[in-house]
Amino acid sequence: MREFVYLRAATVAEAVALASTTASDGGAPARYLAGGTNLVDLMREEVERPERVVDISRLPLSAVEDLPGGGLRLGALAGNTQVAADPRVRLRYPVLARAVLSGASPQLRNRATVGGNLLQRTRCHYFYDTAAACNKRTPGAGCDALEGVNRGHAVLGASPSCVAVHPSDMCVALAALDATVNVTGPEGGRSVPFTGFHLLPRRTPQVETVLRDGELVTSVDLPPAPPGRGAYAKMRDRAGFAFALVSVAVLVHVEDGRIVLARLALGGVAHKPWRAREAEDVLTGATPGATAFESAARAALAQARPLRDNGFKPELARRLIRRTLTGLVTDALTS
Ligand code: SF4
Repeated sequence: MREFVYLRAATVAEAVALASTTASDGGAPARYLAGGTNLVDLMREEVERPERVVDISRLPLSAVEDLPGGGLRLGALAGNTQVAADPRVRLRYPVLARAVLSGASPQLRNRATVGGNLLQRTRCHYFYDTAAACNKRTPGAGCDALEGVNRGHAVLGASPSCVAVHPSDMCVALAALDATVNVTGPEGGRSVPFTGFHLLPRRTPQVETVLRDGELVTSVDLPPAPPGRGAYAKMRDRAGFAFALVSVAVLVHVEDGRIVLARLALGGVAHKPWRAREAEDVLTGATPGATAFESAARAALAQARPLRDNGFKPELARRLIRRTLTGLVTDALTS
């Protein structure tokens, strides 16, 4: 691990000031440290080499609070375990609780935070291997995953520069829930729609979010819970601690025999949590059943472009979508 300067912030304003690049520091990169479950590993492997680490773990950003109008605010330092166990999350946003509990191990969930979950880096093995070519780690170096072992990589929205996937489960549910990310930076605060927070790789895979220099994620807002039912399902190589090959977050509401609300997001298939709006369009207004679910699954993966080793992913995703939708509607009809 390279040497770095450790700084502990007492307030959000101080954290932003400490992390922001200034002319005097010559553009030295800084990183915020919260739970450290990803950043510390990356620093040990020298994949991340910040010159300043700003510890934000003692900032008052860990509350889960009701919002006027029925929504819920998740503090950026709220723990994954805390979020999944919160009775309001379990009752009003069960798709989020299930997504969080399907990620990582209990020990990691105790340390990991909401903000860190949003900002965790890809688990592409070439990204972690400093002997490999990786445009995300070293812009312009190339991408060894393109012709390498790419079983776990992207089938949607990738580019010749990078085919990595976003590893989060929580973020897939947040995309389906139409959450909003609140950030504070040198220019003040702003809010970003969740589906616009993460970026596709294009020619700059090292730029993963819309965060500007020094900006700190302070909270994530959930709008009032939509009507209907939700589910999160995840396919992985083993039942324990493993990242998704494919995951799906689905919200569906049926009235008078028609689907009047449909939200669908996929994980494990793209550089960002992937909102499948084409599938939502197919489902909205349709009669729930095998025909509509099959059409939605096909629409969701219509633009899929598999790599050498992950040709199974589109079909796996289609099956997971059909199965999850079928289970949701069956539950609704039998309860
Ligand atoms: Fe790096 Fe992306 Fe290629 Fe992986 S897929 S080696 S993260 S550029």
